[in-house]
Amino acid sequence: MNAFPQHGLSKDIILSGLTDARSRDLSADGRAFAFIYDAGKETRDLGRDAFAACMSINGLDPTAYPSARIIERNLVKACLEIMAAPEGALGTCTAGGTESVMLAVKAAREFARKTRPDIVRPAMLLPITAHAAFHKAAHYLGVDMIPVAVDENFRADMNDARRLMSKDVILVVGSAPSYAHGVIDPIEALAALAVEHGALMHVDACVGGLVLPFLRESGVEVAPFDFAVPGVTSISMDLHKYGFAPKGSSMLLVRDRALRDSQYFACATWTGYTIVNSTTLGSKSLAAAGAALAVLQHLGREGYVQLARTMWTATEQLVRTVESRPELRLLAKPDMNLFAFTTVEGDIFALADRLTARGWHVQPTYGFGPSPAHIHLTIDPTNASNAENFGRDLEACLEGLPSRVEVPGETLAMLAAMESAMTDGPFDPAVLMGALGVEDGALPMQSAHIHHLLNAATPALREKLIVLFVGELFT
Ligand SMILES: *Cc1c(COP(=O)(O)O)cnc(C)c1O
Repeated sequence: MNAFPQHGLSKDIILSGLTDARSRDLSADGRAFAFIYDAGKETRDLGRDAFAACMSINGLDPTAYPSARIIERNLVKACLEIMAAPEGALGTCTAGGTESVMLAVKAAREFARKTRPDIVRPAMLLPITAHAAFHKAAHYLGVDMIPVAVDENFRADMNDARRLMSKDVILVVGSAPSYAHGVIDPIEALAALAVEHGALMHVDACVGGLVLPFLRESGVEVAPFDFAVPGVTSISMDLHKYGFAPKGSSMLLVRDRALRDSQYFACATWTGYTIVNSTTLGSKSLAAAGAALAVLQHLGREGYVQLARTMWTATEQLVRTVESRPELRLLAKPDMNLFAFTTVEGDIFALADRLTARGWHVQPTYGFGPSPAHIHLTIDPTNASNAENFGRDLEACLEGLPSRVEVPGETLAMLAAMESAMTDGPFDPAVLMGALGVEDGALPMQSAHIHHLLNAATPALREKLIVLFVGELFT
């Protein structure tokens, strides 16, 4: 592709170039059990039209763009209602779950600076299953992390949480549910602990916020997790996941105004316009928020309840398949439509390759702490209709599955050598790409060897390798 031609190209050529570029992307064809959250063509088309219609709205200045206020207020209002928010609760549209989480931590930090000035090193107490976005927030914002162990079902262990609670904790975190295992932390107990110690409590409902309330409405028992729980001070929920909106839309809700004031950032000490930003970006398009509102209004409460039911039925079916096979082990009974399973004897990464060869896309995930290497499945309305086919293929893939690969000594030696080479100085990324057998940025169909290598690496080395790897993709 000629990135910057001397003479401008025609619209047709440019658009067909983009179509070509996308030809190998994952699509909402019902065969992906990761990344895709799709409620069908009608919703997708509406999202696209609304996205285009709102593209030029600049949220930087809500006085110059009244539409930004109309869209955001309505989206917030809908989400507050869904989360059983009390009078006085407020919210902010954000660009994604990560931003919602980072702003929740930022708000907690500022709030603590004002109300608990004795705290020198603010910390957050969070289960090891909490999303990496909290680690990112800690990294960016200078907040310490106190990791809490989980029980055999991967829910926060309250004994450990109580043991680790300290006077420096400004924020307690719980997931509803956790991404990897799809289980809800004991939110009531965590919130009570937070209250007892004068800390705030954030519920990460990024993935569950637009499913759990509707599952409950459809008669499934769902543990308490929203603002109805005393002590819960903020909640994140992603519209671009199970809200079925295009990417770029999430929501941060807060129980009261003081917390949101701490979330905002204002600056008058420069020579340009005085700014006030509710989120991390300055100039920002309302396209994704407008699209999210459109989809929310189109599906309506009934639509979400029905979709939640459909996804749950498919999940129950797949969980039954996993549980019925002695070769497989469910890591935890999920509270909603995403879960993790592993193999007992067979090689989990070889199983993922076999599924790939049959045209499915699943998410192989490495071991960490008590959570072994596993395959993660995210069920959405589109792949739900394929649950039976997928289950059948999964069972077929178990026939003659090679047993778990023990990482050879030389691989471990190579990893150790890489680790020390990286500590000592610059490391040639070509060595890594060669070791992985990656060409032109595409993971080979057979990726098991790559996963074995990364799974065997220490988390610290894995982080370095993945930075190199992705850096190479963009070089
Ligand atoms: C997806 C997710 C996030 C982060 O959201 P992004 O939209 O990917 O930035 C945070 N928490 C949980 C539980 C999630 O599933």
